[in-house]
Amino acid sequence: MTFTKNLMKRALVLGAGGFIGNHLVKRLRKDGFYVKGADITHPQFSQTEANEFILGDLRDFHFCQTLFDGPYERIYQLAADMGGAGYIFSGENDATIMSNSVQINLNILHLSRERKPGLLFFSSSACIYPDPSEPTPDMYAENTAYPALPDSDYGWEKLFSERLYEAHARNFSLDVRIARFHNIYGPEAIWQGGKEKAIAAICRKVIQATENTTIQIWGDGRQTRSFLYIDKCLEAIELLMQSSFPHPVNIGSDEMISIQALTEMTIAISGKKLSIENIKGPTGVETRTSNNTMIKKELGWAPDYPLRKGVETTYRWIESQAKQHS
Ligand code: NAD
Repeated sequence: MTFTKNLMKRALVLGAGGFIGNHLVKRLRKDGFYVKGADITHPQFSQTEANEFILGDLRDFHFCQTLFDGPYERIYQLAADMGGAGYIFSGENDATIMSNSVQINLNILHLSRERKPGLLFFSSSACIYPDPSEPTPDMYAENTAYPALPDSDYGWEKLFSERLYEAHARNFSLDVRIARFHNIYGPEAIWQGGKEKAIAAICRKVIQATENTTIQIWGDGRQTRSFLYIDKCLEAIELLMQSSFPHPVNIGSDEMISIQALTEMTIAISGKKLSIENIKGPTGVETRTSNNTMIKKELGWAPDYPLRKGVETTYRWIESQAKQHS
């Protein structure tokens, strides 16, 4: 075991119990990494494939110290206090979201500047962007993050932490990669309990609705979004890690869809007869999509996974989960 471990590239995945982290661990293992994962919880829906999985609170500096027990080729920092619109836009969780996440980032950067890992990845978010007053071709291009006006305190913390990682790269010679994720979805994302995001929430509502009834969605349904399937997200992260691009870059899809149309697509997948009722609720900005000009130019990457296919896969997975819970 020790012999194999020494021969393999080592990666540390923080937030390895979460949706993206758990999938990332699987991908890194396939790519030949020895993976240590850490999180405050185990993955909820499948066994971790990490070689070691350490349970602990990343806000605790002493716990973080125990993770830095040797050299790593790569550290992925995905741990954050986050959730869907119901969690980050309600305003009720702002103080805890900001302080929990920034504490984790401070701990990891403090240790990284002492121990100098090979490459340090930080997961930022589309929530750092200001709401454009009207659609323009450069909407959501990376440089439109400034002048800054993120849509939430969750977004402000992400923007601040991006700057924290970039400042550490400049002042302490760290090699940093930063991705701004735009609505990543797929099987094994949280689908109930208040932290679920749009696709999972809509799938659950449709699955739980009985024939010829109505499901409720937040807002008038005209708000538009784009969604990226988890496998494509992992593909883009890997290309970013292999590149030398040191600035924040969008990782998302540019296939926009309204929430109304997404709900109709999900109902069509279900084969049920359902109608939609639009109710008041936290919705976030009117329009958001990923601007992929930079990632295409720098990494030659563009997403190529049809939304309908990804929603159908996610729908079937949530359906099987819901059956187990009923
Ligand atoms: P997730 O909530 O499933 O995963 C985050 C993980 O961090 C969880 O497992 C959680 O237990 C862990 N964590 C939180 N606080 C911790 C603490 N104090 N100590 C140890 N572990 C802790 O979220 P995700 O969807 O996998 O997102 C991963 C990262 O990507 C996050 O930083 C998130 O902000 C960012 N992001 C995700 C999306 C998306 O669409 N999923 C979009 C934008 C940004």
